[in-house]
Amino acid sequence: MITIKSERELSLMRYAGRVVAEVLLELKKAIRSSITTLELDRIAERYIKKANCQPAFKGYHGFPASICASINEEVVHGIPSLRRLQEGDIVSIDVGVIYQGYFGDAAATFPVGHVSEEAMRLIYVTEQSLHWGIAQAVEGKHLTDISHAVQEYVEENGFSVVRNYVGHGIGNQMHEEPQVPNFGKPGRGPRLQAGMALAIEPMVNTGTWHVETLRDNWTVVTLDRKCSAHFEHTVAVGREKAEILTAL
Ligand code: MG
Repeated sequence: MITIKSERELSLMRYAGRVVAEVLLELKKAIRSSITTLELDRIAERYIKKANCQPAFKGYHGFPASICASINEEVVHGIPSLRRLQEGDIVSIDVGVIYQGYFGDAAATFPVGHVSEEAMRLIYVTEQSLHWGIAQAVEGKHLTDISHAVQEYVEENGFSVVRNYVGHGIGNQMHEEPQVPNFGKPGRGPRLQAGMALAIEPMVNTGTWHVETLRDNWTVVTLDRKCSAHFEHTVAVGREKAEILTAL
């Protein structure tokens, strides 16, 4: 069942979403060559707790950290570690928080110093594809209008969308119905209604869309080990336009 959020629920999600956005901004400022992803995790966790929230990922199915940090060919679910970022890397940071039982979830990919032109284009196209998807999160549209908009834009630009991982409904649980794929034909799935809350999250690869999971059982990497980027916002479906709950 897809739940419709009340105004009270949305206001709690707005706060959670705002904290997520602020954490991503703090991390963007901290990201530089030689910082470890564990240091980024500490910054995030401190910020989340200071804002009276809890990190949503920590302990989720045993995940050991407050953020996911996925470097270069890593797609999602990278575990923060003592690995140091290097000039030329790109790093995808995914952050989830809980405020009074309600969730916010967002991700962004950042360049570390100067990166290749292709990596910059991958980051740009992935972020834009998210906004093409969000533009479809309007009452009366079908769920897969979002999916189709993302896929079409990504593939027009010569990249591929990951199929094995998808966006999701969100509210008083991190993962609610429906699943929100980043590919597919338009006009399918449930009709969208104002007050549905969705985490839309395209994962976009430079090469093949196929991925595999490393032996740590978390880190998802591209099969061809080419770069991947990930952007995500939690949005509330609106009558005329979606409200981005994880924007500043
Ligand atoms: Mg998510």
